[in-house]
Amino acid sequence: MTKRELATFEEFRKARLEDVGFIVIADTSRKPVVHQLNGRCISGDNFRNKVLGEGGTGKYYLVDSVSSGITELGASVCKICKPLRPEKEKWKS
Ligand SMILES: [Zn+2]
Repeated sequence: MTKRELATFEEFRKARLEDVGFIVIADTSRKPVVHQLNGRCISGDNFRNKVLGEGGTGKYYLVDSVSSGITELGASVCKICKPLRPEKEKWKS
């Protein structure tokens, strides 16, 4: 498994309980973003609104690593919950 869509609330809830992998939120209007599975960006309410809500515009995917999200979904990495914690900070030149 590298990528699995979380289409129901039950799948979403289980994924968070298992706490393995990362979540990619793909929005029709924005570039997909990789988040920590149990980070502050992820909530049941958001999932309900985005995925299950009427006219929901988002999809949630479970991926096994941040790099799977980047390569398979073209996602960028969330700057709020920082799922990629590099050992060394990269300095911008
Ligand atoms: Zn995030």
